[in-house]
Amino acid sequence: MTISQAAASVCSIADIKSNSRATDKLGKRKEIYLPGTDCGIKTQVYLSGYTSYRVGGPAEYYTAPRNLESLRASIEYAKTCQLPITVLGAGSNLLVSDRGISGLVVVTRKLRHSNFNPEIGQLTVAAGESIPSLAWEAARLGWRGLEWSVGIPGTVGGAVVMNAGAHRSCIANILVSAQVLSPDGTLETLTPKELDYRYRTSNLQGSDRIVTQATFQLQPGTDPEQLLAITKEHKRHRLSTQPYDKPSCGSVFRNPTPHGAGWLIEQSGLKGFQIGKAQVAQRHANFIINCGGASAGDIFSLISHIQHQVQEQWSIWLEPEVKMIGEFSAVS
Ligand SMILES: Cc1cc2nc3c(=O)[nH]c(=O)nc-3n(C[C@H](O)[C@H](O)[C@H](O)COP(=O)(O)OP(=O)(O)OC[C@H]3O[C@@H](n4cnc5c(N)ncnc54)[C@H](O)[C@@H]3O)c2cc1C
Repeated sequence: MTISQAAASVCSIADIKSNSRATDKLGKRKEIYLPGTDCGIKTQVYLSGYTSYRVGGPAEYYTAPRNLESLRASIEYAKTCQLPITVLGAGSNLLVSDRGISGLVVVTRKLRHSNFNPEIGQLTVAAGESIPSLAWEAARLGWRGLEWSVGIPGTVGGAVVMNAGAHRSCIANILVSAQVLSPDGTLETLTPKELDYRYRTSNLQGSDRIVTQATFQLQPGTDPEQLLAITKEHKRHRLSTQPYDKPSCGSVFRNPTPHGAGWLIEQSGLKGFQIGKAQVAQRHANFIINCGGASAGDIFSLISHIQHQVQEQWSIWLEPEVKMIGEFSAVS
């Protein structure tokens, strides 16, 4: 049986468990339907199509729910089958192993809705909404507060978790609250204080809670032309200073003080240095680009090489900002 159609109508825990192998005996992929939802769970889905690096092996199980009910059902399925859960937004801050990810990968991009409430100037959006699209839409409507985020190619959920930021602003400055789903199925609404925001960090990192929606405080009533001009300028600045034309994850390392990671890497003579098809970008040394056909292993080896070189020359160990998921072989 390649597709568990039976599970679509009657799905007991026993049914789910008997269907819980990623491939059947013939090694074929299969799709599992979750009863009462519009959500399916697929097996062996390559994640290179879901990361901005364009690398990554298969998810053992993969789902992309469109609403809260489907998300809950997916989590229930994972719990029943004792599968670990990994959440992906736009995959723009991830390095996924070539060996893939075991367990269930939940991609949130299809969780979509947005509501601009002009009376209180608040924007409530689902986790899968794209940050650049929201920045443009807010500017067009004359709502100030998201112009800085136009160059961050992630989802709302990823931005809330990462405390994404640019141009001296960040999510923590505009977040009113985030709605999160716990593995036991309960929904909580958390304030920025409860999320313990710091530089590119929140206490959602490494936790098993999933961001489902967020509310931002913006300022309506600004001249759209003025906001569009600022947003365009931020975008233009990005395109001229960062290698947006090649797959990357943005800045690879967190910035130590007093010198930024890009400066340290450049001063260590590593601009343009390449392992396999992964290269330290000429335009911005804190970017590693996929020159075409890089493996996650190439990128991982280059990250490790940079860390060792900077440590040797500056006695500073650069901490990755990119999240590495799956198994990577240690590089000596
Ligand atoms: C060209 C480029 C430029 C960039 N510039 C910037 C920049 O200026 N500033 C900046 O801060 N970042 C930047 N980034 C990095 C990246 O876009 C941000 O970190 C972004 O917020 C990640 O969002 P995402 O949806 O892609 O999350 P992902 O990369 O998919 O995930 C990041 C982390 O968040 C978790 N996660 C994602 N969604 C959820 C959710 N709904 N619930 C729970 N956990 C979740 C994941 O498990 C993972 O741990 C850049 C990236 C690129 C490729």
